[in-house]
Amino acid sequence: MADCIFCKIAQGAIPSVKVYEDDLVYAFLDISPINKGHVLVIPKEHHESSSTVPEAVAGRLFHVGSRIGIALKRKFDWDGFNLHLADGTAAGQVVMHVHLHVVPRGVDDQFHWNWRQLKYDDGEMAAIADGIKEKFVF
Ligand code: AMP
Ligand code: ZN
Repeated sequence: MADCIFCKIAQGAIPSVKVYEDDLVYAFLDISPINKGHVLVIPKEHHESSSTVPEAVAGRLFHVGSRIGIALKRKFDWDGFNLHLADGTAAGQVVMHVHLHVVPRGVDDQFHWNWRQLKYDDGEMAAIADGIKEKFVF
């Protein structure tokens, strides 16, 4: 897409520090990392949402992301990594070209996701699961 910064990065029109590229995806260092080595993996074709990414491309995105996480652990002794994808502004998506974050993690890296844990009322879990099943389209 003409005005998309990540399309331009994938095409080489805007500079980036590349770590991987193939026919479907492009991976480069995030310019403002959570930890140093934080990588973004993007499909080469423009999609705003993960929901329109073809299964083969989505599979490649996840596969490459996990392998980059392993490479970060092997080379820089990180203890683990997060794979994170924000779909939609409400979820924290800022760049509207779908991207998978690969965030290297250390046991003492002082970064906290602030993951809260709510409780369900009686019967609520079943009702929500039924609602998802009702609207699910493969
Ligand atoms: P999100 O909030 O999931 O949309 O993440 C967007 C990410 O893109 C942020 O972590 C930014 O630091 C990163 N970013 C934005 N512009 C660039 C750029 N030109 N090169 C590398 N990373 C970028
Ligand atoms: Zn794009």
